[in-house]
Amino acid sequence: MQIITEPRQMQTIAEKLRLNRQFIGVVMTMGALHEGHLSLIKLARQSAGTVILTIFVNPSQFGANEDLHQYPRPFEQDVALAKAAGVDYLFAPVAGSIYPENYQTTLKCGSLSERIEGERRPGHFNGVATIVTKFFHITKPHIAIFGEKDAQQLAVIRRLVEDLNLDIKIVAAPIIREENGLAVSSRNIYLSSQERNAASILYQGICHAEKCIGEKQKSLPAIATEIERMIGSTPGCRPDYVVFVDEERFEPVEIAEEEKEYRLLLAAWFGAVRLIDNGKIRA
Ligand code: AMP
Repeated sequence: MQIITEPRQMQTIAEKLRLNRQFIGVVMTMGALHEGHLSLIKLARQSAGTVILTIFVNPSQFGANEDLHQYPRPFEQDVALAKAAGVDYLFAPVAGSIYPENYQTTLKCGSLSERIEGERRPGHFNGVATIVTKFFHITKPHIAIFGEKDAQQLAVIRRLVEDLNLDIKIVAAPIIREENGLAVSSRNIYLSSQERNAASILYQGICHAEKCIGEKQKSLPAIATEIERMIGSTPGCRPDYVVFVDEERFEPVEIAEEEKEYRLLLAAWFGAVRLIDNGKIRA
């Protein structure tokens, strides 16, 4: 595995790979690699001849009061995991080479990026869209794997690829969970063991929604309110949002229609740690 830190060098390598008819798969991460990331690399490995992994804690997607500076950066450990997972190139630039002095350009996404998670984190998805687009140009992939764990991010990226006519196939990878149902996340290391147990309430909420829909309950806001109550009554937990949306626009949905699929989005605080989760629900 080769480690590349300079965007120009990565671009030159990617161009050569393309000239040699290599099929390139990319997985973009902020590092602190875990089972979720490794499952994306595995998917990329299955369909691409060359796998590029990017590790970059992107400042432009963090709000002023968020955890940019505390975000875990266990680089040596990440290198070992990436190597073992069969990554061919690890692209890990420093912030200065991605956003040099006098950097000015940012993508602006539309209404999809301003709802739900976007409302809580203004500008977040514009930052994500900008870095993802930059990394597409740097790594020149044929396919890119993103996790359903960040369902709204995945929808924003699908929209971006379609709106800007990018010739890249986006592949969605299922959410990897711990034994108690908690979605694996780099931010889970901030949790105390008590909070880690409590955080499984998000997955229990998703299971509860599946049960209610299975019993043909139709009012989605009513089910969401029940789940908020479940989260709120768990010690140390505070719900942020629980909402059912349609898969494309992420607009809240009121009534469950037979045979249709919805996405249940959840966010909650566990002590000082904010976690998100989601599940696809079929009515
Ligand atoms: P991050 O490093 O958190 O920005 O995540 C990088 C990629 O890994 C994104 O596409 C995430 O959706 C994906 N990812 C993060 N956690 C999980 C998980 N538990 N299961 C599957 N994919 C995940």
